[in-house]
Amino acid sequence: MNTAATRERDLSGITPSGHLTLGNHLGALRRFVQRQGRREGFYFIADLHALTMPHDPVRHRLLTLSTGALFLAAGLGADRSVVFVQSHVPAHVEMAYLLECTAHVGELSRMIQFKEKGGRPGTRASLFTYPCLMAADILLYEARSVPVGGDQSQHVELTRDLAERFNVTYGETFVVPELVPAALAARVADLQHPARKMSKSAPDDAAGVLRMLDSPDVIASKIRRAVTDSDGEVRYDPETKPGVSNLLEIRAALVGSDPAGLAPRFRGYGPLKASVTDAVIAELGPIRRRHDELMADPAELVRLLDAGAERAHSAAATVLTRARKAMGVA
Ligand code: AMP
Repeated sequence: MNTAATRERDLSGITPSGHLTLGNHLGALRRFVQRQGRREGFYFIADLHALTMPHDPVRHRLLTLSTGALFLAAGLGADRSVVFVQSHVPAHVEMAYLLECTAHVGELSRMIQFKEKGGRPGTRASLFTYPCLMAADILLYEARSVPVGGDQSQHVELTRDLAERFNVTYGETFVVPELVPAALAARVADLQHPARKMSKSAPDDAAGVLRMLDSPDVIASKIRRAVTDSDGEVRYDPETKPGVSNLLEIRAALVGSDPAGLAPRFRGYGPLKASVTDAVIAELGPIRRRHDELMADPAELVRLLDAGAERAHSAAATVLTRARKAMGVA
């Protein structure tokens, strides 16, 4: 087996289907930044995955670049990890096709997204085949373990099945990734609907979604209007006080303490909200400024993303060539 197969790599992509949220930052970007240096990391903007549903090309291109700028502004990239745009590394699409020639129609029809959204008129064929692209994203970088939350486990199961089938049919080619339950990450809830996760796919003007690029005024206003409850006591109790507990969790995640321990410090919801506002602005402000600098200098942004794509291409080319040879496409 190729030496890269024994390497531990971090691999993660975010689909630019909306402006990134504080949830994306705390649950993904900030964790990736903290892991840098300990493992080799490949982080990509999954622009092709956003095309399975109707989309506006102008907004899509802007969101792709802006998400790339946010990855870099949050501290990923440079010589610490590889940041790239998925479509800039054609090996992903090429490998996806080889895997479409490995997958069976039956298993793709059982994928949850397709079952839920595939029956509508005008459904794109890519909504049926995208799990092969996702498998390609993983297999190209020979990640041995793929940490996933519950909603992604079906994709990794399929990736394992495809890799095993390919290896049996055409000879040892892929590292079969292990599915490991994701370490419990902060799950940031929507400020208006605390039972739901804060989601980038919510409408742009959703009042409960803190975007990484919101101005300090917008952040303050959204947190001021966050849903709480009527008993007035700051207490950590996610079951009966989900709104207040979410605010405590955000504050705790940002300052590195535990939400229950923080609660007694606040006499009333006003001071809690003011403190959460300060912490969010302090965290996101520098990232937003760096993002804006990068967006104002598109040549530099494109240069940085191109450099990432080149490094990703070198890593991916070895596996793609092996898979092509194994299948007789030489
Ligand atoms: P998504 O925005 O659902 O495509 O998720 C992209 C990444 O951000 C994944 O690693 C998620 O776990 C993380 N993420 C998204 N939303 C949240 C949230 N509200 N709280 C914590 N992590 C999140």
